[in-house]
Parts: sequence; structure tokens; C-alpha cells
Amino acid sequence: MNAPRAQVSPPHIAVPGEFDAEQVRADFPIMAREINGRPLVYLDSAASAQQPRAVLDAIEHYATTTHANVHRGVHTLSQEATAAFEGARERVRAFINARSTREIIFTRGTTEAINLVAQSWGGMRLKPGDEVLITHLEHHANIVPWQMACAAHGARLVAAPLTADGALDLPAFVALLNDRTRLVAVAHVSNALGTVLPLRELVAAAHRHGVPVLVDGAQAIAHQRVDVRALDCDFYAFSGHKVYGPTGIGALYAREALLAQMPPWQGGGDMILSVAIESSTYNDLPWRFEAGTPNISGAVGLGAALEYLEGLGLEAVHQHERRLLAQATAALQELPGLHLVGTAPEKAGVVSFTLDGVHPHDIGTLLDAEGVAIRTGHHCAMPAMSFFGLTATARASFGCYNTSADIERLVTALIKVREVFG
Ligand code: PMP
Repeated sequence: MNAPRAQVSPPHIAVPGEFDAEQVRADFPIMAREINGRPLVYLDSAASAQQPRAVLDAIEHYATTTHANVHRGVHTLSQEATAAFEGARERVRAFINARSTREIIFTRGTTEAINLVAQSWGGMRLKPGDEVLITHLEHHANIVPWQMACAAHGARLVAAPLTADGALDLPAFVALLNDRTRLVAVAHVSNALGTVLPLRELVAAAHRHGVPVLVDGAQAIAHQRVDVRALDCDFYAFSGHKVYGPTGIGALYAREALLAQMPPWQGGGDMILSVAIESSTYNDLPWRFEAGTPNISGAVGLGAALEYLEGLGLEAVHQHERRLLAQATAALQELPGLHLVGTAPEKAGVVSFTLDGVHPHDIGTLLDAEGVAIRTGHHCAMPAMSFFGLTATARASFGCYNTSADIERLVTALIKVREVFG
């Protein structure tokens, strides 16, 4: 009898021009980690994506060669730090095709960007009886700031319903637009369901009513080409840590004509031109909205992350993640007792699901024992969960470094969960 042959995996051979996820995975040092004795399968990029070596190197290089406070400094380091910071702003501008860097405000992330608009624009525009129109699938970051702004100004928050598969009910959304609507605030992609919203139609409908549109781009920015001019949106918010950059940095795009009318929202250094005890004059755009010392190394890291993603090619990443989504959807549908939550025709690389008789947290814990990281809970989208009569789901989300082997590990681990719970 022949001795059993050792299992040797075939060497990975990249086909020129093909998206090579194994190669991409190797760019991310954290992917070398083992979790509970198994190679890490990271399926939680919708919560926070990992950072490639290029980003970590850029941050270290900045800190070890260039760091000083930005703007107004006459010494070399300050000038170089300013150039690095403003260079990152230009990279953000180019990445989303904004007209000018005057339209790019650095923030802590999506949440802060939306709060900026809710407080500054909302304070200027919202009056008693006005309405802000959102949807039922929004992240809490695109709900609570509007509740607060509406409460402060006597306005009303209105949410458009979803269809049974988790898509936006577009006719219902359009019917909710009226002469009291002052702003539409919608996600580009739902973090809880993966639904991609029909932004072109939605923006066109809002603009027909003369209503500006804010887009929460947290879940779109890393997964498809975002062109704010083509989308014709008025505000677009995103976070660095969702796009392979660091935490604590993000950006708000805002149409210059709107920003020019908006009052500053936080006061302090850097956002002024001159200060007297009686009053101050404010700085030009975009710095008028950036009070205090900004997250300079975060901006440098974000710039490097965008450069990295451009290097991979947004279209290639998009197609790769579509393949992973199709593979995962097909495989998960085969598992007995598993229910996908959110099956809209247009979806990004997010699969939310429940498993009969197993609490999502138990799924997450058992998967972790297999080295598979997914997220469980309400995903900061409680109204979306309650729309489906749920309080929580398990969610796997994909990034550029995921491979079809990762999906196989997910499915194998879920089969084990099924066995444990009988
Ligand atoms: N909107 C969406 C759709 C999100 O997925 C998230 C993050 N989960 C946010 C907003 C908030 O992003 P951050 O916490 O980076 O401000």
C-alpha cells in the first residue's frame, strides 16, 4: 500500500493582469497572525479594514523624519509637515474627483463629518416644520446627528422604508420628498445589509426639489470608484480606517458654494485669520472648518492608503469583491437553517445572516475559535435590524485581501457551528 502523500498546496502563480488577492494579502503584515492556532481569516473590514505596509511605512516615515505642527511654521520641519498634510488633502481630492481642495475638510471620520454638517448647515438652514429625509438602513452616525439637529430647530426626521430584500423603496423615497424637505442624508452602501443605494436616481429626485444630498460613504469608499462630481452629491463623508488607512482621520467633501455659506462649527486655532477679544475673522476654506491641530500623521496615512488602493485599481478590487460576494452568497444559501438578511440586487461585499437556533454572538465566538473574524450584533443600524424583526445578525464583510479560501474557511466553520448546536 502506498504511504499517504503529504498535502502540499500548489505554489500561487499570479496570472499577469489578474487580481492577485494572495499577493495583496501579503502586503498586510497583520495577515501573518494566527488566531487560536489558525491563520487569520479577516472578514470584518466593514467595521475596520487592515492597513498595508505602505501605510504603516508612510506614518513611520512622517513621524521619524518630518513631524512638526502644520501651517504658519517658518522652520523646515513645519513646512515639510504642512506640505505632507496638504499633499494628503490633494490626494483625497483627486481620489473622489472633487473640483478643489477647498472642498475637502479633514475630520476624525464619517461620524464627525456628518455632525459637522448637521450642526453647521443644519443650524443655518433648519427651521420649525422642516424635514430631513433619511432611510431605514442608515448607520446610527447618519441618524442621531439629524435627530439632534431636528430637535434643536423644531424640524422633523423622516425615514424612507425598505423593500423586503433590503433595497431602498425608491418610489416611497421619492414620494416623501416635498416642499418641507431641506436635506436628504443617505448611505452609499449599507453596512448592515450590503445594499448599494441608487444614488444617481436619488440625487436627481432630491435636486428636482432643490434639496441637497449628503452621502455617508463609509462603506463605499474602499470598494468602488467614488466620483463626487459624477454622483452630483452635495456632501460626501468617509473614514480613513474603512479604506485601509488609520483610525481618527476621515474627510468631508462639500460643494464649495455650500461651504462658503456655512458658519464654522468649532472655534479655535487654525480656523481664524485674526482674533480680538470682541470678535474674530475666519480663515479661508477648507481650514475654516478645521479648528485646532489636525491629525497630521493620520492624514499622511490616509493619503498613503488611497495611493495604495489606486495602485491595486479600484475597478479590479470591485470585481474581485463581487466574485467573493457571489461565492459567499451561493455557499451560505446552501447551509440548512441559514438566512441571509439583505439580498438586494445591488450589493457590496457584505453578507449578513442568522442561523436558526444559534445566537449571532455564539456564531461569532465559535468562528473566532476557528480563526475567522466576523462581526455580530446590530451593526450600529438598529432601525435596519428592527425593519427585519431582528436585534442582531452575524456579518461577514470582504476587503481587497480576502481570498476564496477565506470564504471556504467561513463556510467550514459555520458547518461546525451547525454541528455544535445540532
Ligand atoms: N456610516 C456607515 C455606513 C458605517 O459603516 C460607519 C462605521 N461602521 C459609520 C458611518 C461611522 O464611521 P466612523 O465610526 O468611522 O465615524
